[in-house]
Amino acid sequence: MSILANERKQINLSEELSRPFIQNERQESLFREVAVLADRFQTRAAAIDEEGRFPFENFQELKKSAYVSLTVPKQFGGKEISLYEFVLLQERLAQGDASTALSIGWHLGVIYDLRERKIWDHVLFERICREIVENKVLINRAATEIATGSPTRGGKPQTIAIKENGKWRITGRKSFTTMAVALDYSLVTATIEESGEVGTFLIDHRLKGVRVEENWDMLGMRGTRSDDLVLNQVELPEDALVELEQLDSSNHPPRAWLLHVPACFLGVAIAARNYAVSFAAHYQPNSLPVPIKDVPEVQRKIGEMDLELLKARHVLYSVAQRWDTEPDKRERMGGELAAAKHIAVNSANKVVDLAMRIVGARSLQKSNPLQRYYRDVRAGLHNPPMDDAVISLLAKQALQHVHS
Ligand SMILES: Cc1cc2nc3c(=O)[nH]c(=O)nc-3n(C[C@H](O)[C@H](O)[C@H](O)COP(=O)(O)OP(=O)(O)OC[C@H]3O[C@@H](n4cnc5c(N)ncnc54)[C@H](O)[C@@H]3O)c2cc1C
Repeated sequence: MSILANERKQINLSEELSRPFIQNERQESLFREVAVLADRFQTRAAAIDEEGRFPFENFQELKKSAYVSLTVPKQFGGKEISLYEFVLLQERLAQGDASTALSIGWHLGVIYDLRERKIWDHVLFERICREIVENKVLINRAATEIATGSPTRGGKPQTIAIKENGKWRITGRKSFTTMAVALDYSLVTATIEESGEVGTFLIDHRLKGVRVEENWDMLGMRGTRSDDLVLNQVELPEDALVELEQLDSSNHPPRAWLLHVPACFLGVAIAARNYAVSFAAHYQPNSLPVPIKDVPEVQRKIGEMDLELLKARHVLYSVAQRWDTEPDKRERMGGELAAAKHIAVNSANKVVDLAMRIVGARSLQKSNPLQRYYRDVRAGLHNPPMDDAVISLLAKQALQHVHS
């Protein structure tokens, strides 16, 4: 069977797999819209990966369909989707193209988080939301630097913000800035020279001194174009300082918006699983009287893939649901949210591995989508929260009430 025919079969399998998680008509209708986009993105995913370029054409479609304003509050013209819906839609989108899904996931997540935490000046938040709805602008956080590694580890940014005559001047370099070439705004962390505090600054990419250095040349998630963002004496108004970091990192509120990360990598795993199931149903070497789907060892691997997916998806969806429906428990949900990411991303890696073992050596052909899934799914391990941080958080929680 041709790769294209196999991919068409997967589309039906995707529907079947997601149906149990669709809870009502609104979700059904949102899901239908995203499925159309995802299926179109799937036809471009190989070229985007091969060329290592940003999927501008996919973003044109996301903008046209108002996907970019899904997390914007209704009062500002958005759809105000819940965390559960965010997970459902992102997981489906990633089955089409993971790089597109992760990229738009950061943008939607930033707005979801700000909507929930209400930490910004409300006039500014409304302005950005309206710009997203009306002008389809894109925003992302640029928090990583070579010197700090993952900002979740607490390293201090070397990007410096200096205040002079009521204005900020920012200089530094951010690495791993997803969709840098397509952003209208970024939220850049910088150390404030005067106080030593770490602040987050809203930076308009049209400003003088802002440029992107296109140095993203990674094995996986190539289409995210997570390039360096270089800031050279960028002058900002006083109110560009939008957030000040809390000194006590143990007081950080749980970061539910990051569930778009496990949703994305589970999407990759589902695409791989569907490909392998479809392949097994059709591939019949002449040593067998039946397709390999009837071979017990292949069935065992298919069962194992679905066991991983069931486990990971039920945890992910139930944590998202709890976040939405039990707001009074949110402060204590940090461990659950982190565990959902750990479980999902590790299961996703296992599923892709099993899918490749089912398909065999063909899975390594450059024309085969599995080799892309294999490279993409690894990246989930290096998105926050990282595995060791999750385990240590769970251990701390377990021990906090034990008195020695
Ligand atoms: C596809 C992709 C997209 C991304 N998009 C963005 C984005 O849009 N914006 C953004 O800001 N970032 C982004 N990132 C960056 C990401 O959030 C991480 O900051 C980045 O991947 C570096 O994490 P790391 O664990 O590899 O690096 P490091 O933190 O340098 O870790 C490397 C190794 O050192 C160990 N280590 C380092 N410090 C400590 C410590 N203090 N304690 C214990 N162990 C430590 C780690 O365990 C690990 O083994 C993206 C990353 C990827 C892969």
